[in-house]
Amino acid sequence: MARERQLSRRSLLGGAAAGAAGLTVVSTVAAGTAAAATSAASRTVDVAIVGGGLAGLTAARDLVAGGRTVAVLEARDRVGGRVVNLKLANGGYTEGGGEFIGPTQDRIKALADSLGVATFTTYNTGNNLLYKNGARTPYDTSGLLGSVPPVDAAGLANAAIVQSELDSMATQVPVDAPWTAAKAAEWDKQTFESWLNANAIVPSAKFLLDLACTSIFSAQPRELSLLYVLYYIAAAGNASNAGTLERLTDTAGGAQESRFVGGSQQVPIKLAATLGDRVVLSAPVRSIVKSGSSYVVTADGITVNATRVVVAVPPPLAARITYDPLLPAARDQLTQRMPMGSIGKAIAVYDTPFWRADGLNGQAVSDSGVVRSTFDNSPPDASYGALMGFIEADEMRAYDAASEADIRTAVLADYVNYFGSKAKSPSSFVLQRWDNEGFSRGGPVAYAPPGVLTEYGAALREPAGGIHWAGTETSTFWTGFMDGAVRSGERVAKEVLAALG
Ligand SMILES: Cc1cc2nc3c(=O)[nH]c(=O)nc-3n(C[C@H](O)[C@H](O)[C@H](O)COP(=O)(O)OP(=O)(O)OC[C@H]3O[C@@H](n4cnc5c(N)ncnc54)[C@H](O)[C@@H]3O)c2cc1C
Repeated sequence: MARERQLSRRSLLGGAAAGAAGLTVVSTVAAGTAAAATSAASRTVDVAIVGGGLAGLTAARDLVAGGRTVAVLEARDRVGGRVVNLKLANGGYTEGGGEFIGPTQDRIKALADSLGVATFTTYNTGNNLLYKNGARTPYDTSGLLGSVPPVDAAGLANAAIVQSELDSMATQVPVDAPWTAAKAAEWDKQTFESWLNANAIVPSAKFLLDLACTSIFSAQPRELSLLYVLYYIAAAGNASNAGTLERLTDTAGGAQESRFVGGSQQVPIKLAATLGDRVVLSAPVRSIVKSGSSYVVTADGITVNATRVVVAVPPPLAARITYDPLLPAARDQLTQRMPMGSIGKAIAVYDTPFWRADGLNGQAVSDSGVVRSTFDNSPPDASYGALMGFIEADEMRAYDAASEADIRTAVLADYVNYFGSKAKSPSSFVLQRWDNEGFSRGGPVAYAPPGVLTEYGAALREPAGGIHWAGTETSTFWTGFMDGAVRSGERVAKEVLAALG
């Protein structure tokens, strides 16, 4: 362990907190050099786990509980992956990635409860806001329309029919094998866009559905398979509650209902702390090589010999690891075909949540601008105000190469349009750009374009020899969400424990 050290360099809160929790950090100073490779640390365990996000950490917890030795190799200098707390200049925190949880997301809730991480209700008092054609329309979500933005009557009627049709089609999609749905071939050969063009025929209904699509997937309707969208809707539930589109989009009663006290990254940080030095930070895995009856997993600064390997990273990132022997063709082709969505989060911090005094809850949706959906991200005690905006799909891609200053200018112009001139001058501004994160390259999820689920879906969870797959993309319920990540970790641990006998 000569080259291991406790984290000393400054990093995001997670890195610092992880270091404080006593996790092992492998020095990146010597990474990639021959000298480092020859003198690198090595360990022998039952199971090597690639990725210290919620999926990998949950798998580790359950494998340890099952009496197995593990090493979790995490590329970043922090745990949590797509879940990260960002420090604010005022001493507070905000979430740069996964943040909200809601009803039927039972496994992330149970995990948080077990770690003593409490939840609080997302601020949802007052009117939502629709910004369309340059006009602001506040609206009350306790009325008949619920959370549906008040477009024209024809659009509302059309959107209601489309939503109910999608929910009904989703009930025909088995969450554990969407490719076996009776209409799988028909639904997987078309994009969500082509289906919407035939069904969301009123322009304002198409606007609402497009908005729901980019908000859920951070991808445009033209990029997604209809079958994949139906699977995602079907997965937005649990064994006793069928998934619905509404549960994906809603705040009260939906996936945005609650937040974690202290920020969502408290969950992976506390989970990693229970695993101690089984978690190795700053250790990107480069290769997984079979050697006799075990595997040699080589990361920067450390080599792990293991009987089984769990790869708990999104499919496109798993494709960046070298495998010997090669993976089955179907698995590799799958990973070539599932891109990450494009997403960023922009958080502007103010002395107070001033929009609340104007009767607004901070939730705006818009047909223009770089940010088209916002939330009130203030802390539970409202000791300061925070407006969080999503930058998604085409909007994110348009700004991927832009400077932070240019993005800030564009975002604040949107916030002024939505919440008035007080939004112009935040006390601080934080931007998290997932497309530019080396070990995510986008988010919130790796999605399936047409043809992928029916041709390659079965390879999502099918082990390749002793290599098993986890990560939210492999989950049957709440794929794409923190809950799906936890479920996938629990499932893969069972799978590996059974295989080890
Ligand atoms: C902006 C944004 C907003 C979101 N909002 C929500 C939300 O409100 N609610 C919700 O439930 N979900 C949300 N999500 C999704 C949620 O964050 C993810 O579904 C979940 O965190 C995925 O966990 P995971 O463990 O499957 O994958 P990850 O979190 O991606 O974990 C994979 C880990 O593997 C590491 N890694 C990658 N390659 C290697 C390698 N070669 N070697 C070693 N380690 C490697 C990564 O660094 C990472 O830590 C959001 C995501 C984003 C990006």
